[in-house]
Amino acid sequence: MTLPAATKYAVIGAGIHGLSTAYHLALQLKATGKGSGADILVIDKGAIGSGASGIACGVVRNNYYQPAMRELMAQSVEVWESDPKAYSYHPVGYMQISAEVMHEQVGTIYEQQKLIGYESEFIEGAADSQKYMMGLFDDWQAKGITSVLHEKRGGYANNTASLYGLAGKAEAEGVRIATGVEVKGFEFGSNSGAVTGVITDRGTIACETVVVGAGPWVLKFWDMLELPKAISVKGADGTMHDDVPMWKFWCLEEGTLGVDPDMHKTNDGRMPPVIHVDTDAPLYSDVDGSLITDKLWGLYYKPDFNFGGIQGGASPYKVDQDPDAVALDPYGPDSPDFIVGDDFIHTWCSMLAHCQKRFEGKISAYKYKEKSGGLGCFTPDNFPVFDTFRENVYVIADSNHGYKMIGVGKLVAQELIGEKSRLLEPFRFGRFAKGELHPTSNSPFPWS
Ligand SMILES: Cc1cc2nc3c(=O)[nH]c(=O)nc-3n(C[C@H](O)[C@H](O)[C@H](O)COP(=O)(O)OP(=O)(O)OC[C@H]3O[C@@H](n4cnc5c(N)ncnc54)[C@H](O)[C@@H]3O)c2cc1C
Repeated sequence: MTLPAATKYAVIGAGIHGLSTAYHLALQLKATGKGSGADILVIDKGAIGSGASGIACGVVRNNYYQPAMRELMAQSVEVWESDPKAYSYHPVGYMQISAEVMHEQVGTIYEQQKLIGYESEFIEGAADSQKYMMGLFDDWQAKGITSVLHEKRGGYANNTASLYGLAGKAEAEGVRIATGVEVKGFEFGSNSGAVTGVITDRGTIACETVVVGAGPWVLKFWDMLELPKAISVKGADGTMHDDVPMWKFWCLEEGTLGVDPDMHKTNDGRMPPVIHVDTDAPLYSDVDGSLITDKLWGLYYKPDFNFGGIQGGASPYKVDQDPDAVALDPYGPDSPDFIVGDDFIHTWCSMLAHCQKRFEGKISAYKYKEKSGGLGCFTPDNFPVFDTFRENVYVIADSNHGYKMIGVGKLVAQELIGEKSRLLEPFRFGRFAKGELHPTSNSPFPWS
């Protein structure tokens, strides 16, 4: 594609956020008579889905301890449900199955889901939890479980297929998508800090508004926009913490057990909800019976024909390096550094066997040859930042929560045409200095 010399809206990144913003912006420009998809150019240095969105496990859930996250997720689930075919969305539901340490907090999630009309069921107590799970899977055997939150909505979507679905919808509205074009920097106005042009390896594109949906590469754009590498964060006790690094990386660990996905159907022959278990029951090796951990651990999994087996993951690990020195490229399965290894495979397969007898002795079926895992870039409180910087640059930094957040692009589009979104308000950058942080949960995952 020939790159235009100018565009009204330059959207950087053809992942879930860039594409969703472009598509919904095209619709909203048309609906308000303010323009059309022809005013929007999406730019990606790779291809559609060559970042985190293209390797995401694809889980879509509401289960968040933070009220603002839950409301936002409910809005996203509506967008997934609006066109399941194009988005390759499987509304099988989602289950948060927890140990006592999380019981009370998950109970509050259930209460608040009722308030926002998000359908779910909450089962409490060890015996009732076991009975409920056995009603779904007769080989259920996870220990230490005292509550089950069963979300009837949500489920998962097929990562690349959904992105192509979204790209197709955007292009049908006249949006242009330029792949293989790398953004190298920005031109700024002489009388203001606003961006006037996007500098790429194929020339500079003049623009009026920029949207950055760069996933794990967000810190590179933060630098290009000359935003602060370290910030002040007011803690819950009112103490100000200065020089807190704005970005950090965690490595997501996921993989696939190469068995027939049908082996994980429910007792009545249906495709099961996505399963997420957090427990402090000791975890023993499914290979030699040795103790792997007696601390809180968690896993998630689903049968997935796209991945060709039972696909899922476990808690990520923090990348203990200067974020600027972390090798982001090549990304995902192509990375020599940030892919899962034998430890993950052994642990995750043992976790599966801990939960369901049908997975015992199946580690040899793990897809060793398929590399998996990838980096996520997180904010100081591990929650997203959706905000405008330098007057005309909208940054969508989802802190790795975001494949499921397909609806954020719709809200960002609304803000771009001048209408503030109440749902995005709790995710402004200013919350760090004001101490308006989101509550943290007891989950072993940084994103719950
Ligand atoms: C292994 C893994 C599993 C995950 N599983 C889930 C899940 O199940 N559910 C969930 O909700 N979330 C999940 N996530 C998180 C989710 O994938 C991300 O939060 C989300 O996809 C980020 O979307 P994005 O559009 O911001 O970025 P991305 O999808 O990363 O897209 C950013 C794009 O920007 C492009 N880009 C970068 N730099 C430049 C440049 N200089 N010039 C031009 N283009 C550039 C990249 O090529 C890329 O295509 C997972 C993440 C990982 C790593």
